[in-house]
Amino acid sequence: MAAEAEGVVRIYSFSLAVLLFSLVLHGGAAEQGFQQDVGTRTLLQDSSHKHELHCSRERSRAAWKVVEEYLMPFVEKQQFQLSKRCRLNPQNDMFREQEEHKIHVDVNDWKCGFCKKSFRAEKYLDKHFDNRHSNLINDSQGRCLADLCGALHCDQVIESKKPKGKCNPAAASRNRHLCESLADSCFPVSEGPKASRLHEFFLRQFCDAHTCSGGPKPFSKGGKKRTNVLWLASSILIILLLPLFYLLVYLHRREMKTVVKDFRRIGKGGRNKKAS
Ligand SMILES: [Zn+2]
Repeated sequence: MAAEAEGVVRIYSFSLAVLLFSLVLHGGAAEQGFQQDVGTRTLLQDSSHKHELHCSRERSRAAWKVVEEYLMPFVEKQQFQLSKRCRLNPQNDMFREQEEHKIHVDVNDWKCGFCKKSFRAEKYLDKHFDNRHSNLINDSQGRCLADLCGALHCDQVIESKKPKGKCNPAAASRNRHLCESLADSCFPVSEGPKASRLHEFFLRQFCDAHTCSGGPKPFSKGGKKRTNVLWLASSILIILLLPLFYLLVYLHRREMKTVVKDFRRIGKGGRNKKAS
């Protein structure tokens, strides 16, 4: 019985080790992909100056990320429809159609949703879009989300960008003005209570942070909840480790009992010997 239990413990520890190893491996791969991504974006930004299009795909993507994460969940909760006049409306992002036709099959496998061609990295797919599907881009005025980056704090979501040390009061005031004009055009207070609520929310979430006097941080109202991979991994580990822990405690206690019994037997034997 003890040998059997020992075998179970051994199998358990082995599978645990395998699981841990694969988790570490997976994390590494994900990180690699992520770093590659950041590198890609920097590269793209450098080349975007050569392109005729005077709108950065990278920064537009960052702006969209901010809008999607820190604004849309609240707009949807209020069941509010962004008007076409609002520059944050997805229809006003010139890259939206292309971005939505990106198929991320695997870490190193990106597919064009229009012609199904495969690419090793997102930057190649971006180039492909520029070369082959540029006809889908309508770059009429007011459709460059990147232009709103100042107001939307894009640098907070672009990992390669380190936040600047010095605050520029003129830039802060300019960004605040742009931010407030976005609030006014997207959520006109005259349109009713929903728009008023979102107007107020937008000011707190995005505009209040445009100050040099140490005001609140942007996105103070939080964003979309995402499943944290680390949290998930640790809970799985705990669930797996708990039975193992109890099994070890059980085995240890059983062993102690046998040892105590043996001692008692030896003790009794000794006394018996003395008595005789
Ligand atoms: Zn294509």
